Order: sequence, then structure tokens, then C-alpha cells
Amino acid sequence: MIRLNVPSIGEEEIAAVREVLESGFLVQGQRVAMFEERVAGYVGLRYAVAVSNCTGALHLSLIASGVRPGDIVVVTAYSWISTANVIEICGAQPVFVDIKADTFNMDPDALERTLSRLMATRSTACRVKAILPVHTFGQLADMPAIMSLAHEYDLPVIEDAACALGAKLSGKQAGRWGLAGCFSFHPRKAITTGEGGIIVTDDSGLATRLRSLRNQGMDPDGDSVDFIMPGFNYRMTEFQAAMGTVQMEKVDRIIAARRRLATTYDKLLAGSPVNPPAVRSDSDPVYQSYVVLLPEQSARHRDVIIEHMKAKGIEVTIGTYHMPMTRYFRSKYGFGPADFAVAQSVFTRALTLPLHEKISEGEQGEVVRELLLSVE
Ligand SMILES: *Cc1c(COP(=O)(O)O)cnc(C)c1O
Repeated sequence: MIRLNVPSIGEEEIAAVREVLESGFLVQGQRVAMFEERVAGYVGLRYAVAVSNCTGALHLSLIASGVRPGDIVVVTAYSWISTANVIEICGAQPVFVDIKADTFNMDPDALERTLSRLMATRSTACRVKAILPVHTFGQLADMPAIMSLAHEYDLPVIEDAACALGAKLSGKQAGRWGLAGCFSFHPRKAITTGEGGIIVTDDSGLATRLRSLRNQGMDPDGDSVDFIMPGFNYRMTEFQAAMGTVQMEKVDRIIAARRRLATTYDKLLAGSPVNPPAVRSDSDPVYQSYVVLLPEQSARHRDVIIEHMKAKGIEVTIGTYHMPMTRYFRSKYGFGPADFAVAQSVFTRALTLPLHEKISEGEQGEVVRELLLSVE
């Protein structure tokens, strides 16, 4: 089986986890702080707050930046459902924005139209509290355009950088553009701690609120135990952090390998009816997923293509979700397929190909051969 993703885990990770398990100190020790320091240093920001997963990271970031029930958060339409769920869980309303057909990222022109519509009416203007762009599949959204609109309307930006640790746009890393950036360490991402997430920021007040919120609202700087707000238990374990610290030593190697593999796929697909992922000239993506677009007429056969590939021992899957068209959001807000036409088209045509350090060039050739046979 050519698997979609295989985490890059070696003896070093196993030894690091074993050491923590043998120590008997499994939570709330120094390993989480060390991991946070490592990630903050890598991204080049002052603070990193590790949590149990990126969904928790996004949830806490929204609460800590002031999103309350009845508020509005403006968000991209095409993402893992987590991105919209956290808004809804805050009691706020996601207002979706369509995407660009080439990069699958939030369309800044559509964002501008949405913001100017929301801001033109007093009853909605006062409810808009944040913008939540996603760096889809590890390629940065158009952050210069998004940040300029955020400044114009004085809104904080929380980056859903779940897939984008190490990705850059104009040389500037994911997580450095907005008020905060959230990364995931789920096994489908480039580096992993099993489950895990982290928030990076340069805002010390925000970092303090995040530390409190992840740990039952405890005062993170107090001399004695006291609770300054209602919080959650979204803590990361010591063995996850120990594993993450070892993974951080390999992150550049892993990203370089993913880029090399993506280039090989790009060459294999050149001139075929299947579109390789588009990359802006100033963009350095990390290819959390290598997502191609099937030709329009093959979209309705996509499930058959996925099954055919599986029968040939090749694991492929869809890209990600058209969130407004999932049942909960569609029925609550009454969306239809024409509301976000680009996300609708990309959702039906996208296909993720296997990409991980253990795949060989020969196997990549096999993937593309079977794919092109099944679309023709
Ligand atoms: C994976 C992912 C998340 C959620 O991360 P978890 O760590 O699984 O909670 C959120 N947003 C995007 C875009 C993702 O790909």
C-alpha cells in the first residue's frame, strides 16, 4: 500500500517518550516549556503556548482575543471543519468568504466585499470581532491583502496555520502575520506529537490569557494557586512535548523532503489534464498535503477514482471540506451550492496524493500513472 501519509518518527522520538514515561512525571513539568521555547524560536516570536490540539488552540485564541456569544468571525469557506466549529462553539457566527481557485486560500476581494457589507450596517458592524484565514494545505493565504483589510477595519487576525509550520510568504513565516497563529501536531501534519497544538504570538497579555485558559483559568504568574477566569483543561502532556522537541530538530529536513517530492509530482503531472497545486512566486509552501484538481468532467467520478486507486494499492483522498455546505452550517444558515461557487467547484475536484518521507520516486510515478489512467 502506498499510504497517504506516514509520520517521520525515528528511534530518537521513541527514546524521548520512553524517558518521560520512565520518569513518572507525565504532565506539567519542564518538557512542555522546552517545546514551547523551541517552537517560538523557530517561528521567531516571543511566546508559544502548547495545548492538546489545534482545535483547542483556535478555540482559546478566539476567546482570548475577545470573541463572545453573538459576535461574528469572518472565515474562509474551504477548510477542515475545526476552523468553523470553534467559532460556533464560542456562540459566535461564522461569516464565510469564498476562496481563490488556484491556491484554495481566502479570496481577498471576496473578503473586502464581505467586510464592507458587514460594516455598512450598524447591527452587524459592532459584532465583527476577528478574521480567521487558513493557510490551506501549508501555503500561506494572501496575508498582505488580508492584513491591510484588518488594519482598515481594526480587526485582529488569528491565523489557522494548522498545516503551515515553516511555510513562508515573501520570506515571512506563517504565524507571524496576525495577532496569533495556531499550529497542529496531528499525524496528518508535517511534524507530530500524536495529538497536539500550539499558539504563537508576540502579545504578552494574550499569551498570559492563553496560559490561564488552557489550565482551568489558573493565574499563570501567581505565587500561590488562584483562578482568574473560567478555563479549560487543554494542556499538552510531557511525553507529547518531549516527542515534539525531537520532531522540531527534524522539521527543516522534513519540509525540504516534502518540497522535493512535490516538485517530482509537479513534473510528472506537467501537460496532463490534472492540475498540480498552484504556488505564488513569492510563496514557500510546506505541502502538508499535495492536492491536485481533477478536470471538471472527472469531478463526478471522483469517488470511483479514489476506489480505483485504492484497489491498486494507492491511498488518495479528497482535499478538505466546503464548510458552509456541511449539514449543520447549511441548515442553520441556509447556504446553497451557488453561495461559494469557487469552494463548491474545488471541493468536488480536489484530490490529495500520497506524500511523506518514505515514498520513493518510483512510487510517485506509479501514483501519477494510475491517476492519469483513471481520469481518461
Ligand atoms: C488539522 C487542522 C485543524 C485542527 O487541528 P487538530 O490538531 O486536529 O485539532 C484545524 N485547521 C486546519 C486547517 C487543519 O488542517
